Amino acid sequence: MDFDYTPEQEQFRSRLRAWMEATAAELFGDLVASSSVTVESLLYGRDDQLWQKMLEYHRRLHDAGYLALHWPKDWGGSQAGVVEQSIYQDEALRLGLPLYGANNFAIDRIGPTIMLLGSEEQKQRYLAPMLTGEEIWCQGYSEPNAGSDLAGLQTRAVLEGDCFVLDGQKVWTSNAHRADYQVLLVRTDPAAPKHRGISYLLVDLRSPGITIRPLMQITGEMGFNEVFYDGVRVPKDNLVGKLNEGWQVSIATLMFQRASGGVRHPVERTMGELIALAKRVAFDGRPACNSAYIRQRLAQFAAEARCIRLGRYRAMSAQLRGRVPGPESSIGKLCATELSLRLAMFADEMLGPYANLESGSPGTVEGGKWTSRIIAARESTIAGGTSEIQRNIIGERVLGLPKG
Ligand SMILES: Cc1cc2nc3c(=O)[nH]c(=O)nc-3n(C[C@H](O)[C@H](O)[C@H](O)COP(=O)(O)OP(=O)(O)OC[C@H]3O[C@@H](n4cnc5c(N)ncnc54)[C@H](O)[C@@H]3O)c2cc1C
Repeated sequence: MDFDYTPEQEQFRSRLRAWMEATAAELFGDLVASSSVTVESLLYGRDDQLWQKMLEYHRRLHDAGYLALHWPKDWGGSQAGVVEQSIYQDEALRLGLPLYGANNFAIDRIGPTIMLLGSEEQKQRYLAPMLTGEEIWCQGYSEPNAGSDLAGLQTRAVLEGDCFVLDGQKVWTSNAHRADYQVLLVRTDPAAPKHRGISYLLVDLRSPGITIRPLMQITGEMGFNEVFYDGVRVPKDNLVGKLNEGWQVSIATLMFQRASGGVRHPVERTMGELIALAKRVAFDGRPACNSAYIRQRLAQFAAEARCIRLGRYRAMSAQLRGRVPGPESSIGKLCATELSLRLAMFADEMLGPYANLESGSPGTVEGGKWTSRIIAARESTIAGGTSEIQRNIIGERVLGLPKG
């Protein structure tokens, strides 16, 4: 296998890197330069100023042609090759920037789902404002009693004339407080077997009858929400795919989500930061970087991070040969998120009691950034399907084991 890039691809990387570094320095200067946090980790917070900058970053990313490299030209994307997409991902992760500007859900998975299964009118109406950032999207799948067992969802939609009437509740809806639209999974036939009575709707979040309530996270952020629906009317033209066949549509969205799930976690960037940390702090009474234990752990993590990168190249090479990404994308998601968690836990171990100091407290290490990262580290192993669910998928659909 040849891992070298062509001169044209190297030029693409240099141009992109120069653009990204300059734009990020201008808009997020301190955050990127100090690498105190990744800009992405703040994307779903409540900081209005940062959000405005994020929207500006989104617009510039789009104008420069980097926002939707994987979208076809017919729908406003750049239709770049998979190698260029991979180079783009490397560069965005290197700076801790979000891959799809302010509209992650839309560009990553909802737009591609509409392109694949939406009506011509839906494509004409919704795709362009996703790219410009004029309409921000979120994803309403999980409910209080339907997370891993998503098909158990109970939010009801009853067809009355030209509208569906919605009643029920979603939970953990990231960014609903900023979003204009939502993709929503609803039960339209309660009598059918649970996977068969579900439909997939596009919902205007300003519709009367919708209440959005923030949920406070352990980090102090409020990135996700509960969303309540009380007699909400949604035009029947907003149905994607066929009535009661929304499960297949939701699977398409999840496949797009999981295909990028392993890519999103900047494990190599974090590795670099941990190595720098090991050179700065003491462990067991001497510089951490001189401890055999710390060195062994770091080397092990580095090997795993490299395997994740090679796994990504393998998937890319399969795509270049025309193969569609399959359930093996769960392997990338599982490995990258679990490694991210272990890296944070390792920082906790190196820092000892200092890991508990919040930013702003005297004696914090690196502004207390590791404290919030350690607290937040488990999130990614839950979002988008937990690690246990990814292992079930790998067991059943990659290894061919019988259903447990
Ligand atoms: C940061 C973050 C952002 C999120 N954003 C969104 C969003 O925007 N939209 C949205 O709809 N949802 C979102 N979610 C919700 C997420 O999809 C769910 O939390 C996830 O699917 C798990 O569902 P649950 O929380 O109901 O846990 P449960 O399904 O109740 O699971 C509880 C535990 O049981 C285990 N478990 C369950 N079933 C099995 C099984 N069959 N085999 C083995 N173990 C099992 C799970 O792995 C877990 O450890 C987000 C979650 C997080 C953490």
